[in-house]
Amino acid sequence: MNKIQILSQEVINKIAAGEVIERPSSIVKELIENSIDAQATNIEIIFEQSGKNLIEVIDNGTGMSKQDLSLSIKRHATSKINDFNDLFNLSTFGFRGEALPSICSVSKLTIITKQPEDIHGWELYSEGGEIIYIKESGAKNGTSVIVKDIFYNTPARKKFLKSDYTERSHIIRVIEELSISNYKIGFTVKSDNKIVLNSSPANKIDERIIDILGQHMYDDLTYFESDYDFLKTKGFLSKIGVSYPNNNIQYLFVNKRPVSNRMLIQIVYDIYRDSLEINRHPAFIIMLDINPAILDVNVHPTKRLVKFSQEKEITELLKHSLRNCITKQSIPVFKLEQAHYINEKNTREYTPDMFQTSKNKSYQISSAGLVEALKKISQDSKKEFNLENVQVIGQLYNTYILCQTSTGLLIIDQHAANERILYEKFLAKRNNLNQQRLLFTQIIQLTPHESTVLKNFLDILNELGFEIREFGINTFAIYSYPEILGEIGNINDFIKNFINILTEDTSQKPVLEKHETIIKSACRAAVKAHDKISNEEMISLIQELNNCSQPLCCPHGRPTMVYITIDEIAKKFKRQ
Ligand code: ADP
Ligand code: MG
Repeated sequence: MNKIQILSQEVINKIAAGEVIERPSSIVKELIENSIDAQATNIEIIFEQSGKNLIEVIDNGTGMSKQDLSLSIKRHATSKINDFNDLFNLSTFGFRGEALPSICSVSKLTIITKQPEDIHGWELYSEGGEIIYIKESGAKNGTSVIVKDIFYNTPARKKFLKSDYTERSHIIRVIEELSISNYKIGFTVKSDNKIVLNSSPANKIDERIIDILGQHMYDDLTYFESDYDFLKTKGFLSKIGVSYPNNNIQYLFVNKRPVSNRMLIQIVYDIYRDSLEINRHPAFIIMLDINPAILDVNVHPTKRLVKFSQEKEITELLKHSLRNCITKQSIPVFKLEQAHYINEKNTREYTPDMFQTSKNKSYQISSAGLVEALKKISQDSKKEFNLENVQVIGQLYNTYILCQTSTGLLIIDQHAANERILYEKFLAKRNNLNQQRLLFTQIIQLTPHESTVLKNFLDILNELGFEIREFGINTFAIYSYPEILGEIGNINDFIKNFINILTEDTSQKPVLEKHETIIKSACRAAVKAHDKISNEEMISLIQELNNCSQPLCCPHGRPTMVYITIDEIAKKFKRQ
């Protein structure tokens, strides 16, 4: 008996639609992208009930002729590419000719469109993929696409939709992303008759970011850019010391396309590794402009994933660019007033045209170009941070060191500073550590939980200058510890403390390299707060902090210092 049959076109279309149109936000994304591709300068988005009932996208772009209009909802019909090779010289969002037919097959769709050169426009109406009519219309220039009753004919798909709240936040996210990377286009967004966003065309990306994220969040970002010929990077990173409880404020774009790429995101977390508190996240807006020839956007129907043919080089360059940005942040945090000045200068120098469509750009790519770019990277990014001319005033509560600088008061957290210094010294020496032997071997009895933690890290501890062996059930013998940790009074307390800090750190961050976690925790356990220290010791601590590569925070992300300008103090006393 024969069992195989060819599926009907209707079923094929519905199946294919599932790949592109997963939820209302997918429709919003596709329609906005079409409007951008049609060179719109203003886009209005209206949706009701989180898009389930109505989505409308109105643009002032090129519009379509009658023939293009009827072709636009056919599968694999596109005006954006002619043959396969065009994919590697792409300057549009679309190219698969799948969005409109997919939307069309799962909804009731109206498209009203008019080209500026035509006297009147056209209106198409379709239901479930069938054209019901095409008629003349008194439309204005541009295109409006109205999508109603999404998934009305695929109830199984409708069931998978989440709550209005969730679907709505997906839509908002899509709009946020596309409006950030296309800041020159004006966006108006209305949800259930309320204006959600009204952002006029911006000259600088900064303006759009302020519209989307607010001034406050914008102030906590710092700008970066670099140009490696075939790869340009620019964007914003959160300043050292600023972090967020979730990863919502993270945007990654490749050639203006919002993308997800775990590998690139991991690079950012790696950069912040030594300055982020547990369970906190950085904010970033990273825009990569890559020669389309080394980019494959056709990895997934939603085009959310991209592949690079020279992945290793690209990650190296991005790392370099971000690291530079982080190191350069030193001054702003230290000298608040100058920080302001520097930020303003940064944004002024920034050229908004850098990321215009890749059409009229000449790239020079060859593998030699890549190697050259990588060579140009000098790892010794100059540190502009300076604590040389600070004058120690004294100590507060045996914990804070107060210093006078030429423009204000600097307060250093002695504990955090010590931790940073010790951590960097330890890291530098980790392969060549001296051991401090205990006069008497110490036996330590641990709880079963503590014992499991310690056992788990025992090999690494012994590689890092400790000598600790199991001595019985939940009992360990300690013979020596790394000399670099200094005088450790009570080694048993130290180990217990160390295990505590370690469990806090590792429970949240399994990705963190084990060695570094251990070193961080050991440094914290070794440094004791509330230590009265002499003036000379304070001065040498400040000098050592000055020599650190990241003096502004301890390895666990707490700030090492805060700064108050003399002007701020004067204001408090109403002298100004
Ligand atoms: P793709 O964007 O991949 O080409 P779509 O199905 O999204 O495929 O759109 C099909 C075609 O319809 C596009 O190539 C374009 O020519 C035309 N089109 C769609 N939306 C618009 C619009 N808002 N303005 C002008 N033309 C449009
Ligand atoms: Mg499209």
